[in-house]
Amino acid sequence: MNTIIQTIDKTNLTKENLKLAAGILQNGGLVAFPTETVYGLGGDGLRAEAAQKIYAAKGRPSDNPLIIHIASLDSLSLLTSAIPEKAKILAEKFWPGPLTMIFEKDARVPFGTTGGLNTVAVRMPSHPVALALIRESGVLIAAPSANTSGRPSPTKASHVIEDLDGKIDMILDGGAVGIGLESTILDLTQEPPMILRPGYITKEMLEDVIGTVTVDKGLLSKDSSCQKPKAPGMKYRHYAPKGELTIYEGNPEIVASSIAAQTKKETAAGKTVGIITTEETKSLYSSLLPDSGLLTLKVIGSQKDPSSIARSLYGLLRDFDASGTQVILSECFFQAYLGQAIMNRLLKAAGYRIIHLEDS
Ligand code: AMP
Ligand code: MG
Repeated sequence: MNTIIQTIDKTNLTKENLKLAAGILQNGGLVAFPTETVYGLGGDGLRAEAAQKIYAAKGRPSDNPLIIHIASLDSLSLLTSAIPEKAKILAEKFWPGPLTMIFEKDARVPFGTTGGLNTVAVRMPSHPVALALIRESGVLIAAPSANTSGRPSPTKASHVIEDLDGKIDMILDGGAVGIGLESTILDLTQEPPMILRPGYITKEMLEDVIGTVTVDKGLLSKDSSCQKPKAPGMKYRHYAPKGELTIYEGNPEIVASSIAAQTKKETAAGKTVGIITTEETKSLYSSLLPDSGLLTLKVIGSQKDPSSIARSLYGLLRDFDASGTQVILSECFFQAYLGQAIMNRLLKAAGYRIIHLEDS
């Protein structure tokens, strides 16, 4: 299949490429488009055949349900007839934005879209291209992240091209996304509501608006056989780079010296090594690292601005893939607020390989 790739300026939307993309969606085809979280791979959420195509293009297991994207609150009542009061309050506060809510599904939503579940996940994105595409097409767009299943989610159109060129009808290139991590998923079919996937909208932000919110225990445990995550997608190995990623946690000086010692060992054995550090900690490595062409040190962002870390994470893992880096050693990041989502993704990418270092 020939994939049409067109750029679109989010500050100056052009009708022609929106019309073309809208026509493809109306005819049951697939279009990748930018959202404020990551790029999405869109198809008609009310047509089971479109969902089938999404699963096929991504190589995604079909029991992993899709999120349906809407551009107005009126559309929500087409997808569910049970909108709890708390959902209305949250929609008022956080939509459009990076919050996905789970509802009981209406009969018109096909099980092909919801992975056989009786519930449906809905989000109103804030990205101007995503909103314009939903409005122009009149389609309620089912869109998972536009990556091959198991690879890091795409934060730029070039990542989508890498994974899906030739497999989908169109890619709208609207530049780099703003947030860089997938939406927070909140299940409103239970009381109190439960976070099934942490994201930019934190537990604290939700609780400020609707009171107590719980967190799915399955998210915290490595062994999904003891606590199966409630969002089916969270049980799969996800977000993974090709190299072996290990996270080091502890006092920054001790972390840097442990990472440097491991780097010496790996490069001496002829392996390529990538180190993930921050603006604040990069200087700790200056006299510790070997002078080796096998080594790359990448600054992920600033600890003072966790959103800079969120924005870079997936792109950085993809860069390590592109250069064939075999061993990736990462510092651990602050774990509260947005840090919860960052560490959730980083731990999954590492297959939960984390080394806790004691102060000596
Ligand atoms: P992605 O589209 O890649 O961001 O993945 C969508 C995520 O939403 C996956 O982790 C799904 O398991 C989750 N999800 C979608 N619909 C539901 C639902 N009805 N109930 C629980 N989780 C859902
Ligand atoms: Mg995904």
